Amino acid sequence: MSTMSSATIYRLSTRDDTFEQRLNALLDWEGVSDSAVQTRVDEILADVKQRGDAAVIEATNRFDRLSVENMQALRLTPDQLEQAFNNLPAEQREALARAAERIRVYHERQKPTSWQYEEADGTVLGQQVTALDRAGIYVPGGKAAYPSSVLMNAIPAHVAGVREIVMVVPTPDGVVNELVLAAAHLAGVDHVFTIGGAQAIAAMAYGTETVPRVDKIVGPGNIYVATAKRAVFGQVGIDMIAGPSEILVVSDGQTDPDWLAMDLFSQAEHDEDAQAILVSWDSAHLDAVAEAIERLLPTLEREDIVRESLGRRGALVLCQDKAEAVTLINRIAPEHLELSVDAPDTWLNDVRHAGAIFMGRYTAEALGDYCAGPNHVLPTSGTARFSSPLGVYDFQKRSSIINCSREGASTLGKVASVLARGESLTAHARSAEYRIQD
Ligand code: NAD
Repeated sequence: MSTMSSATIYRLSTRDDTFEQRLNALLDWEGVSDSAVQTRVDEILADVKQRGDAAVIEATNRFDRLSVENMQALRLTPDQLEQAFNNLPAEQREALARAAERIRVYHERQKPTSWQYEEADGTVLGQQVTALDRAGIYVPGGKAAYPSSVLMNAIPAHVAGVREIVMVVPTPDGVVNELVLAAAHLAGVDHVFTIGGAQAIAAMAYGTETVPRVDKIVGPGNIYVATAKRAVFGQVGIDMIAGPSEILVVSDGQTDPDWLAMDLFSQAEHDEDAQAILVSWDSAHLDAVAEAIERLLPTLEREDIVRESLGRRGALVLCQDKAEAVTLINRIAPEHLELSVDAPDTWLNDVRHAGAIFMGRYTAEALGDYCAGPNHVLPTSGTARFSSPLGVYDFQKRSSIINCSREGASTLGKVASVLARGESLTAHARSAEYRIQD
């Protein structure tokens, strides 16, 4: 039973004088800035760096309420993963395998190719793509388990050609999620450690006696995880600092209000800070969605979280027309954008900033969350302005290739020599000049 009597989702109109101010307040997200968390994370990182496994064990026992004595108790073998997969009920095993296959096929398309071109004098220039040696995947496990996150993080790494994939997932109170392990088996994860929080990030960033040091850490997590990832960036790569999940739905008034209400809920049920916003130029339609929200809320298992999230950060926004809706999309740069409109492809050219775009009335965001194929790890908090969904490219890097012919070395040598002498870098100049042939 809910303790609250009604949802208090904001109703905004772009015609209101205070619209900009109210929108800014809704979108405002402090991110990772809690100084008490920062201090604790710094302590944990320093401890793991210095004492390795012993510090990881202590922190895990403390924060996940365990009492293990060695790292072997926090490690799962490939056999255990395979067994978890085989033990799943057939329906779950098939759904997981189907999702994994679709995610793999989609990400195969992202594989970039190395390239080279030859100039007239025989000089060859190019770019060589190589995978990371070792990737670390953080799978959250504090409040809920996320098998889909295992697939979304590990499959692109595998497709990219990463040699070794290390996965960490906390098991508070020792509760292991079999679906998570089964997903790790399907996705080709090499090592799984049942550790979480800042101690898991530290173990993967610095390496311990047992946990191999990785080259890049990816995956979402709570504030301890996000703060730790930010702190170790530079020693290892990271994918992004993820904030709370968000959805922006744009409706032309023709989609069933119940469908839209449920789409908003599907985001809001993630957590109290999640954000769900609906934009439409049809005022009566917004009324109908508001009514559907009230009617359907009591039918949800996570009613309280949804109410809190909608009340805190949700909104129904009345705009004037399609052009204004597009302006709002690009201004908000949402993690998930649902275009619940006719002919959504006519909108695509105008949408410049969005993590994932769900086109048309039938494409519920939930389908993308699990099994459509594209990645569900997406830029949040407006960062879609400058970043992209997690992908194969996050697990690869590029080396540039220069192969000068004898003639090319002469031509380029003259240019380099002039520029180097202009910078007073004599060794640079002479190194180039040695290779000039008359
Ligand atoms: P989590 O695994 O991120 O964090 C659990 C760990 O936090 C624990 O193991 C513990 O080590 C640490 N911790 C907890 N309290 C602590 C304390 N007081 N001091 C030090 N460490 C402490 O799991 P979670 O908490 O459930 O958070 C998961 C987050 O990931 C949620 O915010 C969820 O929305 C997000 N998420 C995002 C996506 C996505 O694709 N964007 C997907 C799944 C989950």
